[in-house]
Amino acid sequence: MIRRGANKKLPKSHEVKVHVKKNDMVVVISGKDKGKVGKVLQVFPRKGRAIVEGVNIVKKHMKPTPYSSGGIVEKPAPIHVSNLMLYCPKCKRGVRVSRKFLEDGTKVRVCKKCGEIIEPKE
Ligand SMILES: [Zn+2]
Repeated sequence: MIRRGANKKLPKSHEVKVHVKKNDMVVVISGKDKGKVGKVLQVFPRKGRAIVEGVNIVKKHMKPTPYSSGGIVEKPAPIHVSNLMLYCPKCKRGVRVSRKFLEDGTKVRVCKKCGEIIEPKE
């Protein structure tokens, strides 16, 4: 007998959505860096993780090589995006956001509390 429904579709990894983008200002809401505010340096949507400036710093012990003297290198490690909230510069805290279209059709995220547009300036 042929089993039906065996080929149930799994969510494709490229369809995984994360709520943070590169250059966003975010607040860490749990973990050892709780309360820290930093800029998103890199996002890994497939893993649901992001690297945030100054957050989740890990010390790596590097062996000396002919090219470097080795020692301890500190660098930020990826943190799960569920531990992050977008930071509103007006509310000075992590906030939930809603989406809005500007008159020119640009989609922006706005703070649900104060209505401030939260998009990285560049
Ligand atoms: Zn706000």
